[in-house]
Amino acid sequence: MTPLGEQIKNLIRLEGPISLERYMSLALGDPRYGYYMTRDPFGAKGDFTTSPEISQIFGELIGLWCADLWLRMGRPAELSLVELGPGRGTLMQDALRAMKSIKGLIPALRVSLVETSPVLREAQRAALEPSGAPIEWHNTVSSLPQLPTLLIANEFFDALPVRHYQMHQSQWHERLIGLNEHDELIFGLAREAEKSIPLKAADGSLLERCLIGEQIMRELAVHINQWGGAGLILDYGHIHAGFGETLQAMRGHHYVDPLAEPGDVDLTTHVDFERLATIARAQENVVSGPIIQADFLEALGIRERGQSLIKSANPAQAETIISAIHRLTDRSPKQMGSLFKVLSFRHSEMPIPAGFNN
Ligand code: SAH
Repeated sequence: MTPLGEQIKNLIRLEGPISLERYMSLALGDPRYGYYMTRDPFGAKGDFTTSPEISQIFGELIGLWCADLWLRMGRPAELSLVELGPGRGTLMQDALRAMKSIKGLIPALRVSLVETSPVLREAQRAALEPSGAPIEWHNTVSSLPQLPTLLIANEFFDALPVRHYQMHQSQWHERLIGLNEHDELIFGLAREAEKSIPLKAADGSLLERCLIGEQIMRELAVHINQWGGAGLILDYGHIHAGFGETLQAMRGHHYVDPLAEPGDVDLTTHVDFERLATIARAQENVVSGPIIQADFLEALGIRERGQSLIKSANPAQAETIISAIHRLTDRSPKQMGSLFKVLSFRHSEMPIPAGFNN
């Protein structure tokens, strides 16, 4: 067992079984041993790969998505550009490079990165310093600049802790993590029923809720409503809410047991886009999508951009570009083009953003 696993077992011995939310918060964010706090998990040698790490075109298109909105907002003199969970900073690096082609945009930018990991903050600093744009870091979304805002979150919401509830004898019970007789971490159910959930379901049904993500979504929508602008969320998840769990653990590009090595494996869940959209609308934001990533990237011109890069590429580079575009837009089941969804929310006076029809 990992050192963090031993720490979690001690906690359970002292306090009794803990919620999945607490377990995930420790496994991902414990200051000493948390998964994101101690490493750079991305790329072929890491545990998983994300869209901006697959192709520079991804970040470039998102940069131009922002640039187009800035122009149609009437070129505000100051624009807060925010990214949640920027990883290595690759998306923002590619976005800023693409934005340089739009006169006056870079000097208007104030870039804020919401990031809790010291290791990844350092990687972001190294990637973004050469851009010359002013960059600041925030631990949470509550302290974002009070300015018109464009906000990006790629694979951020899937990394937030969730709670699980299971229907047992017609009542919801929270799923907890405790210890079995061999001193191993196991899932169980809280004795007390959770009376605050009004949903009805068959016995055995599982309900997954990301209350932390919902709270962040609420704060972002309030921010946009107050200061103007728009947000773009890209992540794997479902268009319609339903029952069932989606918790998964990844190590070295393989699925592993989520309770086996806390702190050493990535834990994620699928994002409930329907709920995020409902929360944004409740704060008087207008919502576009969710649509599948393939439709979004193709509408933004991923193929045309690929063609123009290929013109100055050698055959091996051209092959890499073609396969990266295919990976990002593959519509087969469970591939990135269809599994990933894109949702945008905006102030009621903003135009429809690029990539969406309404
Ligand atoms: N957007 C990047 C990285 C995705 S991984 C990419 O597409 O490559 C998730 C990112 O969110 C990491 O940077 C991680 O450190 C950060 N993160 C996870 N939980 C967070 C939290 N509660 N607050 C801020 N950042 C968080």
